[in-house]
This record gives sequence, C-alpha cells and structure tokens, in this order.
Amino acid sequence: MRLQVIGDPVLHSKSPVIHGAMLGALGLDIPYSAHVVRRGELSEYLAWARENGVTGFNATMPHKEDLIPLLDEIDPAAKAVGAVNTVCLRGGKWIGFNTDGAGAVAALKDSLGIDPSGLTVTLLGAGGAAKAVALALSQAEAERVFVCNRTLSRAEELCAHDPLGHLSSAGFDADTLRRVAEQSQLLVNCTNLGMEGCPHQFEDFSFLDALPPDAGIFDLIYHPAETELLSQARRRGLRTLNGLPMLVNQAVLALEHFLDRPLDRRAMAGAATDALLFLES
Ligand code: NAP
Repeated sequence: MRLQVIGDPVLHSKSPVIHGAMLGALGLDIPYSAHVVRRGELSEYLAWARENGVTGFNATMPHKEDLIPLLDEIDPAAKAVGAVNTVCLRGGKWIGFNTDGAGAVAALKDSLGIDPSGLTVTLLGAGGAAKAVALALSQAEAERVFVCNRTLSRAEELCAHDPLGHLSSAGFDADTLRRVAEQSQLLVNCTNLGMEGCPHQFEDFSFLDALPPDAGIFDLIYHPAETELLSQARRRGLRTLNGLPMLVNQAVLALEHFLDRPLDRRAMAGAATDALLFLES
C-alpha cells in the first residue's frame, strides 16, 4: 500500500507531513509522498498508480475537476462540488471524494465552537474552495449563506448548484458586504485576498463593523497564519480562525477514506497539527 498527493506544483504541499504524522501516530508504516503530475497526464498516472501499489491519493491543482470523468465512482458530495480531492482504489475501482467542505465544517465546530446549523453566513468568493464550503454549510443546515463574489455570475452559478436552496448570491461591493454582514453570525473568506503572494487586499474592512459582536470570522487562508482580515477582526473583538484546522480536518477525513475505517479524529488532528507547528518553528 502506498499513498500520494498529486498536482503541479505539488512539492510545497503539506500533505506528506500531515499524513506522515497521522500514519505515524497510528503506528502504520505506509509511505505517503508528493508526486508531480502535469495537466493532461492523469490517465497515465492512474495506470501507473494501479501498477505501482498506490491505493489512494490526494489531488490538488490543477486536477481536482479533471479527475471526475476518469474515475469509476464519485461520492455524492464530490459530485455536487464537481471536484475531488481524495481518490481511493477499492475493489479495483477508483472512487473520488471531496473532504474540503466537511473539513471546513469540522474545523468550525472543533476550533471555533460554531455549529452552522440555523446560522446566517456571509461567504466571500465563488471559486473551488467557496463551492465546497458553501455546499457543506448548506448541508449542515445553515439557515442562509450569502455567496458574495466580485464576478456575480460565478456566485449565481454556485448557488444554482445547491439542491437545498440555502444559498443566495450577492455582489462584493462595500454596501452589499455591509448589508449581508449585518444579518450574519459567521463570515467565511474563500477568496485569495490576503494570501501570501496575492498582490490584492480587501479595499476596506467596514463590513466587519456590521457583524454582531459575537460573530466568528473564518479565513480559509493559512499563509500567513493571521491575514489582515483576521487581524482586523481580532482587533474588533471578533472570534477568528485561520485555514490550518480545515487543512488538517480535510486530511483526517481523507485518511478515513484511504484506510476505509473511522479514526479518532481529534487524535489525528492533534498529531497533524503538532507536526505542522514543529515544521514552522
Ligand atoms: P479560486 O478557485 O481561484 O477562487 C478565487 C476566489 O477569489 C474567486 O471567488 C475570486 O473572485 C476571488 N478573488 C480573487 N482575487 C480577487 C480580488 N482581487 N478581489 C475580489 N475577489 C477576488 O481559488 P480557491 O481554490 O477557491 O482558493 C481560494 C482560497 O482558499 C485560497 O487562498 C486558498 O489558499 C484557500 N484554500 C484553503 C484551503 C484549506 O484547507 N484551508 C483549501 C482550499 C483553498 P472572481 O470569481 O471574481 O475571480
């Protein structure tokens, strides 16, 4: 048995550290490595993986969507998102899963003590991560999720994919953000704004003033550990969470798929987080 993460680029991926720590904590001697697979080379990779004992892999850019037509089965959550991040070989079949959304909801519950059920949420962005998180929030029975995006048509398209009807599209201008924030108990940033290497930043943070004082702010970004959004929110006394617990939780759920059994999620998340913090120290 061998596990991998594939992508291009992928050598910077934290998945080998996270999965290595969890496998080590379980006492399992299963190798997990990063493997560069270029766009257009997925079919060759699947054949190679099958021949070389790879029984599961994580996928990152640019393969999350392109894998879908090449797999034998797709889990309903991944089908809804239209992207996979975890693929397992079971009974000779490649089966695709997406653990990003469930990982985000688990992070909110475990690290911020927020259960989205019944909440109104402002969600910024309508890209791949936003889609996974918005659909998971809807599934977790958030009362309403305002999907706010610079390109409104992408937000509209995302909301049209929600079978439960909890998602509403909205714009990204300051007035709209303040209006939806006023109604929200949770704000989730799924844009690149504030990410290391992203040249752009929020134009203003006045939407944070519209939130109730006990609101939670969840930024999917984990580099830097505290984005300007989280710093501004913290200075206003709001509860904040960065993207690291989501990264860890999506990996815990992926490992459950790889091993095809439930794990002690808290223990796994703890081992992975310790390894990441050690790496950064
Ligand atoms: P993506 O598909 O490229 O989507 C990027 C989103 O950001 C789009 O909604 C885009 O709006 C918006 N955006 C980009 N530049 C903007 C600007 N200048 N002003 C306003 N909006 C802007 O990216 P993604 O894969 O969803 O990733 C989004 C973020 O989530 C990244 O920072 C990534 O690191 C993070 N992430 C974290 C985890 C985790 O485990 N913690 C997992 C996945 C992703 P338009 O549609 O208008 O272009």
